[in-house]
Parts: sequence; structure tokens; C-alpha cells
Amino acid sequence: MTDTFEALRLNPLLLQALKDEGYKAPTPIQAQAIPAVMEGRDLLGIAQTGTGKTAAFALPLLHKLALLKGRPPRGGCRVLVLSPTRELATQIAESFRTYGKHLGFSIATIFGGVGFGGQRQALGRGIDVLVATPGRLQDHLEQGSARLDHVSALVLDEADEMLSMGFQSELEEIFKQTKDRKSTWLFSATFQ
Ligand code: AMP
Repeated sequence: MTDTFEALRLNPLLLQALKDEGYKAPTPIQAQAIPAVMEGRDLLGIAQTGTGKTAAFALPLLHKLALLKGRPPRGGCRVLVLSPTRELATQIAESFRTYGKHLGFSIATIFGGVGFGGQRQALGRGIDVLVATPGRLQDHLEQGSARLDHVSALVLDEADEMLSMGFQSELEEIFKQTKDRKSTWLFSATFQ
């Protein structure tokens, strides 16, 4: 297992951000997941909050985004992370901002309980990393303010929670609409 971030061959601007945060070494899930993701493999992770799982997907995703050319399409995003709650979505987006602070990507959240206007505006500009709850994302898809045909990586965080909250049909629709994705990662606290 890899015991330094340098050995994971992450973008130097990510290594700088990790240094700024005072992270000394990858956690076990990071050491296992990051190399797999860098190779473009799909991933199923059984991990609870507190294990460092957010960085396990955020770091390699940001690394890969930095290799892409061009801009995200209007209404669309390049990386889509689904989360069961607005609190977790906010936290995940915050982590992407922290780790990606030297890279300058656009990162936005979409969740229910707030107005549509700001979310529509953000989508309209095109987003590099979108963190969304399935219900509100589905609303945007139905209204035509979001499109998912340019998503290259899809992450389901706390997939078990999303299913037990009844988001199965939304997840199926999102899977269908992200048919061009190159990788899919699923994190769950339990696996049944
Ligand atoms: P998570 O499991 O993703 O919710 O992360 C739990 C906490 O661990 C967060 O506060 C992270 O900032 C922190 N963290 C993640 N990876 C590392 C690391 N390699 N070294 C130190 N702290 C970390």
C-alpha cells in the first residue's frame, strides 16, 4: 500500500493543497482507492464518514479534471457526485473546494429546500464538479435546466442511504442519462 501522497502521483497543485491542510499521509481508503481510480477502474467502497472517503474520490477526480481540455457544457457538468442530504452535499463540495483551491474549477451544489434560480444560473454557466441530491437534480432534468450527457465520472456517496430514502427511480434515471460516463464509483456504509 502507498504510504505517501507523492507516491500516488497526484497533480502537484493538489499536493500543495494537502500540505496546506496539514495532511501527512493517505488514510487506508485513500491509499487503496486513489491508484484504482487513477487507472480508470470503477470502484465499490465500503466506507463510513470519518475514514477520509471524500478525499479518496475528490483527489483523483480533480487530478483527472486537470488533464481535460475545454469547458463544461452549459447546463451540464463533468463530474457528478450524488449525496442523500444537503448537509453531506455541502460538505463534499467544501472538500472539493479545499483540495482544488489551486486549480480553479467551478464547483456547485444542488439540493432541495431552496429556490431554483441560483441553481439554474450556476448550471447555465456549466460546472466542473456538481454535487447534488437526486430529487432536486431530477427536478432540474425534468425542467430542462440540467443535462448529464457530458458527465465523465459519476460518484454515489452513501448509496445505501439514497436507496433507503426512496431515490431508486431518480438514480436509475440519472444512470440512464449519464451513459457516456467513463467511471462510476459507489460508496456505501453497508453492502447488502
Ligand atoms: P471524511 O471521511 O471524508 O468525511 O473525512 C473525515 C475527516 O478527515 C475530514 O475532516 C478530512 O478533512 C480529514 N482527512 C481526510 N483525509 C485525511 C488525511 N489523509 N490526513 C488527515 N486528515 C484527513
